[in-house]
Parts: sequence; structure tokens; C-alpha cells
Amino acid sequence: MSVRAGREFLAIPGPTTVPDEVLRAMHRPAVDIYAGPLLALTDSLLRDIARVFNTKGRAYIYISNGHGAWEAALTNVLSRGDKILVLESGRFALGWGDNARRMGVEVEVLKGDMRRAVRPAEVEARLKADKGGTIKAVLVAQIDTASGVVNDIAAIGQAVRAAGHEALLMVDAVASLGCMPFEMDAWGVDVAMSGSQKGMMTPPGLGFVAANDRARQVHKKAGLRTPYWDWTDREGDIHYQKYAGTPPEHLLFGLRQALDLLFEEGLDNVFLRHRLLAEAVRRAIGAWGEGQAIGFNIIEPAERCDTVTTVLLNGGRDPEALRKYCNQKCGVVLGHGIGELAGKGFRIAHMGHVNAPMVLGTLSVIEMALNALAIPHGKGGAQAAIDWLGAQVPA
Ligand SMILES: *Cc1c(COP(=O)(O)O)cnc(C)c1O
Repeated sequence: MSVRAGREFLAIPGPTTVPDEVLRAMHRPAVDIYAGPLLALTDSLLRDIARVFNTKGRAYIYISNGHGAWEAALTNVLSRGDKILVLESGRFALGWGDNARRMGVEVEVLKGDMRRAVRPAEVEARLKADKGGTIKAVLVAQIDTASGVVNDIAAIGQAVRAAGHEALLMVDAVASLGCMPFEMDAWGVDVAMSGSQKGMMTPPGLGFVAANDRARQVHKKAGLRTPYWDWTDREGDIHYQKYAGTPPEHLLFGLRQALDLLFEEGLDNVFLRHRLLAEAVRRAIGAWGEGQAIGFNIIEPAERCDTVTTVLLNGGRDPEALRKYCNQKCGVVLGHGIGELAGKGFRIAHMGHVNAPMVLGTLSVIEMALNALAIPHGKGGAQAAIDWLGAQVPA
């Protein structure tokens, strides 16, 4: 028996649900890449990507996923043999750092762990100890999609300044851009990167990087620059060069529509919607947790992010059975645990084009699975989410 016919719901942290308006915007013939409306479209997108990053600096749009944007960010400001400091709080900053290592960069990891946020005081102390200024950049993820943590980028920026250190602050905002505030200039972020397929509600295939003037100064002497990623090549007036080749026009049509949706709703409203839906998820898990078999990965409530919640199953219970039930019986696809959480937990994404029925439906299906698989849990998780959300959203 299954009740999965109907639209499958992706509750994985990327790619996320693409709005029908975005899909429709892409369904059209190709257009000229040398003249006509595409040129103005590029200008509007570069301006608006800088706007969502909240920077007066420059934005760059690549045909790539997040991994490509990682490489774009690194190659434009680093040289072989440079040293960087990677702030651990899950998997993703480490992954970015691994890429840098493979490009000949020396990587030091500021030890953290899978269950908590980066501690800004530790960043400050490490940078203060770097008397000779050998550390050229600090890498951190705003939200780590494996652990479900949110790092306080404002406080980390403050820590870098308090240490009086020259290192560039480089932030991965793939799982957070368009879902929560990102104040690149106000927080002292020099380079930020993201991708199209999470909070930006566009199919996978676009990578975004933003750089301030300081980063663009450092760029001039960067030894790792390559033709495809190079900022300088993309900054000229020739449209074709802004993409180092043929522009990904259909993805650009989609992105324009997605940005229009975000601005129409209002970014503050978008962020509040994410916060409310995330808290609804947390209320449900809090109720289920009373059975002791299920709980949050991130220990400190204030460090749980608003786009993905990482849930642990205790006592050696197999999260894959739960994911399989949700998918095969009910058409809800949950994220699996990654890194050291593989086989130990699952992830509920609540990022991008999501609303109350999507999130409440997902929670109800998980509760069905907990019952069906006889996983001990406190009753009424979905009800707790409904009660809380209802109180926040009065008539
Ligand atoms: C998804 C993700 C990435 C990687 O993006 P891809 O598009 O899969 O290459 C990097 N960092 C974070 C925080 C992510 O969530």
C-alpha cells in the first residue's frame, strides 16, 4: 500500500523546489547572445545578485554548481603556497578547504565539530597568534548543510577585525543566500559565494561570487587565476566575456524570475517565512524527542539554522528505513546524513520555495514513518508544529 501518487516533494537541501513561474520563464526559444535584451538582463542580474549579498562590490555569475563557485572564489585571490584558515562546523567549509589544498594552498583547520557553530573568540585568538600575517584567507560556511548549523558571520567578521588581521574573510552562502540575512559589506566579508539551486529557487547550474574592493586588489596578484574563472576577464564591456563564452541564457531567464519572486515577497518576509517554518520543524522534533530515540544534531538551540534541520536517530536505528518509507510510501524525499552522520541521521530541508503545507505535510509524513517503523518517539510532533505556527500566523 502506498499514498505517493501526486507531486513528489523534495525535502532535500538542494536542489530545491523550482517555482512553476521559474520553470515557465525558461521555456522559450534561445535568443541572440551578442545584442538585444539579453545584455540588459545580464546587467540586471549582476546588480541584483550583489543586492542579495548586500554589497557594493562586484558580482560574477558562472556556469557551475557550488563547487565551481568555490573554485572561482579561491583561484581569484590565492596563490600556490599561500596559507588559509578553514573554520570547521560540519562538512562544507572543510570541502572548500580540501579543494584549496588540491590547488597547492596550505590549509590549516580551526578545529570545530559536527554539532556546534564556529566560536568567534577562537578565530580571533588564532589570528592574533599569526604575528607574521601568514594566513591569507579565512573560509567559513554561513550555514553548514551537513550539520544544520548557522554560523554568526557578523561576529566572525568582528573577530577578524579585532585581531587586526589582514586575511580575507571568504564565506560560503550556498545554503543561506535568499533564506536569511547576508550583509556582506556590513559584516566585513571580502568574498562570498553561492549557487542557484537552493534558496535561489533556480535549477542547478549557476554559481555566484561577490567580491569587494579589497578582494579585487588582492586578485591582481593572485597566482591561481585561470581563464574561465578570472574576474578581470569578466569585468569588461563585452557581453560574451562576462560568461567566458556562451551565456547560460535559459538559466538566466529562470534566475530573473526567481529574483523577482524574492523581491515581490520582500526579502525580510522571505527570511521571516524561513524562520517560522524552521521553528515549526524544530517544534515537531522537540516533541518527538521525548521518546529519546530521535533528536537534534546541533546541541545549542540558537545555533540551529533556518534552512535545514539535521536529525539524529539514536540506538543504532537505521535512518534509511525511515527515508525509504517517506519516499516510497508517501512521495517525500528527505536528505540523508552525510560525512560522519551517514547512517546516523537524516535531514529535513526547509529552504527556498516552501510554504506551510509543504513543511507540515513533510512533518506529518515523518510522524507516519516513526509510527509505522515503531521508532520510539513523543506523540504529537506535527500537532506541536501546527499549534506553534498557527499562533505565529493569526487570522
Ligand atoms: C550544496 C552546498 C555546496 C555545494 O554546492 P553544489 O552545487 O552541490 O556544488 C557548498 N556549500 C554548501 C553550504 C552547500 O549547502
